[in-house]
Order: sequence, then C-alpha cells, then structure tokens
Amino acid sequence: MPEGHTIHRIAKDHTPLLTGRPVSVSSPQGRFASDAALVDGVVLERIEAYGKHLFYWYANGLVGHVHLGLFGKFRVARGAESPEPVGMVRMRMVTELGTVDLAGPTDCSIGTADDRDAVVRRLGPDPLRRDAKPQLAMDRIRKSKQPIGQLLLDQKVLAGVGNVYRAEALFVNGIHPTRPGTDLDDAELHAIWTTTVSMLRQGVKDNRIITVDRSEMRVKKGHHRRGETTYVYHRDVCLRCGTPVQTVELGGRACYYCPTCQPH
Ligand SMILES: [Zn+2]
Repeated sequence: MPEGHTIHRIAKDHTPLLTGRPVSVSSPQGRFASDAALVDGVVLERIEAYGKHLFYWYANGLVGHVHLGLFGKFRVARGAESPEPVGMVRMRMVTELGTVDLAGPTDCSIGTADDRDAVVRRLGPDPLRRDAKPQLAMDRIRKSKQPIGQLLLDQKVLAGVGNVYRAEALFVNGIHPTRPGTDLDDAELHAIWTTTVSMLRQGVKDNRIITVDRSEMRVKKGHHRRGETTYVYHRDVCLRCGTPVQTVELGGRACYYCPTCQPH
C-alpha cells in the first residue's frame, strides 16, 4: 500500500493538469458512471491529500474521494489526446492538458464536504500537512498500552505512515517496536513526530522511500538499490551495526528492527 508521501506526490502531480478548469469525468469501466455524471464538466478547484486519502474539490461543492488501497493505481497521460483506457479504468479525468486514469482503488466516490470531513475525523494528524496537530498523535500514543510499532501503523494515530516509515522512524530513534505507547516519554514522542515529518517530506521530494541519511550511504550518487535505502526495513542486517535484523508482527505486518540499536 502506498504511504503518505506517494499520495501527496500524486496531488502535486495532478494539480497542474486538472485544476482551475472544467474536467470531463467518466467511468470507462462503468462502476463509477453515476457518480462521474455528478461532476462531469465541472471546474476542479483543488486537490487535497490527507494521509492515504485524496479529495478532489469541485466548484459545485461536491468532493471526489479516492483511497488507493493495496491495488489502486493512477496512470497519467499528458497532452490533449486521451489514450485508449488500459484495463479496468474506474475513473477517467480529462482536461486539455492531460488524462488521468484510476484503476483498482479501494474507494472512488463523489460526496459532499461533510462526507470528506467524516473521513478526516477518523484520521490522526498527517505529518505532511502544515495544519497537522502533532499533540493529537502524541496523546493517542501516550494513552495506549499497544506496542508503538502497531500504533504507528494505525491511521487514527498518524495518517499516512505505512510499514516502511514506521520501522525506519523507530530505528532512527532507537525505540524497540514492542514498547507500549504508555512507556514512551515526551522527548521520544516528539522525536518520532519530527522524524516522520522529515522522512515523509524527503519521500515526496524523491518520489520514493530513502530513509538513510546521505552521510551513511555507501553509494553516494546514482541508483540506490532496494536494501541500501533503509536502515532495517527489508534488510538482513542492520545498515548501521551489522546485527541481523529481526521482525515482529505488529498491526498485521512484519515490523523490522535491530535488537542492538533498538534495545527493549
Ligand atoms: Zn543496528
């Protein structure tokens, strides 16, 4: 599943192609046809990213909601000419500048601003948003006896963090993933927040996840292979100390950690 940096990057990429102009909205596959008709030809005012959710704000007050889930994918074609839809395209958005196709999302629907608010109310703060209130996340962690590794994946605690960033944020701060939320002190909670903000921001910039500090990279320039871009995630040994990396299942996914750098 894409993490928050991908969603914010999508909003950034779609904005110049789609906003400020009427958008032809359709559903080549058909499943989204009646919703598409509600906004077809309406000016798209802005695109908002919130955690793993995207909201498309139309000038008639309606809001498109997209959650990619595990299999959702956008395909972008620049230029006035729209390509033939490839596969099951649930939603197609077309302007004179380009075509955006969406296939396989968990959710793609048109609703009201209230519907959008209802989705957002269920989410914790998104570290990539300037209006984020980190205190909310910290309070939720501090009150919970659940392991921190599990809490970081919970979108009600932090919106946008996924399996890679949770492992890497805990590693950088030397925090063992099974420590209960109630066990963490203020300094640790602040450090986790600050780390996720900077890692996610870097992810939007790089358009991929590279959590290793540039000074610790063996290959300084050029193509970084998977496994050289993280400290512990999907690695056999810790990038920093060489200890074999361990995993513990938290929140339904394997959480990678270094038992030496992240003592219990
Ligand atoms: Zn280590």
